[in-house]
Amino acid sequence: MTDLAAFAREKGVKYFMISYTDLFGGQRAKLVPAQAIAGMAEDGAGFAGFATWLDMTPAHADMLAVPDPETVIQLPWKPEVAWVAANCIMEGQEVDQAPRNVLRKLVTKAAEQGLRVKTGIEAEFFLLTPEGTQISDPFDTAEKPCYDQQAVMRRYDVIAEICDYMLEMGWGPYQNDHEDANGQFEMNWDFDDALVTADRHSFFKFMVKSVAEKHGLKATFMPKPIEGLTGNGCHAHISVWDLDGTTNAFVDNDAELGLSAKGRTFLGGIMKHATAMAAITNPTVNSYKRINALRTVSGATWAPNTVTWTGNNRTHMVRVPGPGRFELRLPDGAANPYLLQAVIIAAGLSGLETDADPGPRHDIDMYAEGHTIKGAPRLPLNMLDAIRALDADADLKSMLGEAFARAFITLKRKEWDSFVSHFSHWERDHTLDI
Ligand code: ADP
Ligand code: MG
Ligand code: MG
Ligand code: MG
Ligand code: MG
Repeated sequence: MTDLAAFAREKGVKYFMISYTDLFGGQRAKLVPAQAIAGMAEDGAGFAGFATWLDMTPAHADMLAVPDPETVIQLPWKPEVAWVAANCIMEGQEVDQAPRNVLRKLVTKAAEQGLRVKTGIEAEFFLLTPEGTQISDPFDTAEKPCYDQQAVMRRYDVIAEICDYMLEMGWGPYQNDHEDANGQFEMNWDFDDALVTADRHSFFKFMVKSVAEKHGLKATFMPKPIEGLTGNGCHAHISVWDLDGTTNAFVDNDAELGLSAKGRTFLGGIMKHATAMAAITNPTVNSYKRINALRTVSGATWAPNTVTWTGNNRTHMVRVPGPGRFELRLPDGAANPYLLQAVIIAAGLSGLETDADPGPRHDIDMYAEGHTIKGAPRLPLNMLDAIRALDADADLKSMLGEAFARAFITLKRKEWDSFVSHFSHWERDHTLDI
């Protein structure tokens, strides 16, 4: 167990950033001087929960964020500060709806069944001008900009700095590229336990935004920041291992696509709960401009519309790229890093519990021939449909925890109300002359 005070002395850390993630994915922190860390490491840093998105009232008791010392990272771009993920506690109890607690409970539930879920994510992002309205590189204008060699080199200083940090932190980064939209990039690192991936995903967003700011740019993970261009996905690759992490229980080289019976059933859970999961994997109003979208300038959205699965084909919601894992292409850049992992485990465990069948696999080009598939559910068309689908899915809510589901759905309904009460240009344009 890492002793944070000793860590500070050894590394020359002056401040700890005790950080937790709220239900909307916001990262909240207190900067604690190293001299005060010993007490905080035990008791936690105090927060007013109501002041963040946790569905609390101003009358709630103080919430304490207790650092998990195993997660501590010295900021590579500001080594006098160290970030540490925290678990939220109130009056001696874990706060049920706090996202890291939701995930930790599901990791435990999986472990009780001898399962260890390992995932890798692909958190795409755009580099924009500082105010966030335009692509930062005025020369990044190709119709098909994916893997553009010149364009990625024009942002080398940002991308290489982030990748160097991932190398330093030992995350096993292995490739970086310009993605399918102008101004869009992706950086990949090795998969790991779901909680490790969630902490890294959180830290990655913080790091990418921080390094971009340092270079006078704005990084965004918004699902569809530029109309007409491909959006920011956050695909998740999933496998399930035995408890010592040495045997991938999803591998069966004699099975269809090398996916074991356990893998198929876990996938069955994802297929069964997909429309409800969307409330978490695609949690914003803007998310629904990415899924169900019209063809983008590059020729394809690379995002799904329908609950279907396939082999190595990127037009479906789930792709099985090789033996022993599958890729969920539904999540977008707005997904809360902890809730994303939690809902994958929840849906998968529900699949295992109910012996869920993923249904037939389709190998067609969904963008061209999707209409030929009968009976596959459409993904929700907007955030409200997704929230309603989650609210109607008793199994998934119970797997995620009732208190969490209630808090999340309450806040998201309020957010939807705020959105629909917003008076838009569109209404005037379409209604003025009626
Ligand atoms: P693609 O763009 O082809 O979908 P990437 O290479 O961008 O794939 O990302 C693949 C992600 O999947 C990486 O994070 C990688 O570590 C992860 N991954 C690879 N094998 C597994 C596995 N068995 N279980 C979980 N994640 C995996
Ligand atoms: Mg105060
Ligand atoms: Mg990728
Ligand atoms: Mg990509
Ligand atoms: Mg992918």
